[in-house]
Amino acid sequence: MGARKHTANRVVLLGPPGSGKGTQGVALAQHLGVPYVSTGELLRAQSGHDTELGRAVAARINGGDLVPDEMLLDAVREPLAAAFEAGGYVLDGFPRTVSQAQYADRIGAPERVVYLAVPDDVARQRVAGRSAASRADDADPDAVEHRLQAFHSETEPLLDFYDDRGVLARVDAAQPPALVRAAILDALAAEGRP
Ligand code: AMP
Repeated sequence: MGARKHTANRVVLLGPPGSGKGTQGVALAQHLGVPYVSTGELLRAQSGHDTELGRAVAARINGGDLVPDEMLLDAVREPLAAAFEAGGYVLDGFPRTVSQAQYADRIGAPERVVYLAVPDDVARQRVAGRSAASRADDADPDAVEHRLQAFHSETEPLLDFYDDRGVLARVDAAQPPALVRAAILDALAAEGRP
């Protein structure tokens, strides 16, 4: 009997808007039987509250800017802690900065970080295509540009951060969703670098 390959189940999905993090993340969490946490969803829920925090979060999201760490942690600390304690998780949209990655390390580092790579033009087209589905930050081209910029300047440094420790896998996310899903599962079953 061959040794059964370990499949990583503490997984972070990284990628620009429109890379399919939500679609793939929900399906993957179901497949692995672990919690799915989208900080974007948690923040959008927060932004619906008529409070100072809710209004401040809404302004950032609608402008396509990252929510500053203090505000972010107010909204996501507990669901993140619960996911980390569950022993496995799929995180969509967190961490998005090196300081957030350091926070994640303190509560339970990911075993595998999957980078869903799509060119900016594909990202723009996909976001425009779903913009009728009522997200103000999808419908506003300026907000979409800010989100792409934030990805390049704040989140891309995480690719080296996680590659240096041998847990990064790059997946071509411009492919059809079923192929992306298969590539993600392959990446989770593959050995990381020692
Ligand atoms: P998403 O649903 O992942 O596209 O996120 C939508 C928006 O939520 C982003 O453009 C940010 O304004 C905010 N957001 C989500 N996750 C984070 C995070 N980890 N750090 C800062 N802002 C975030």
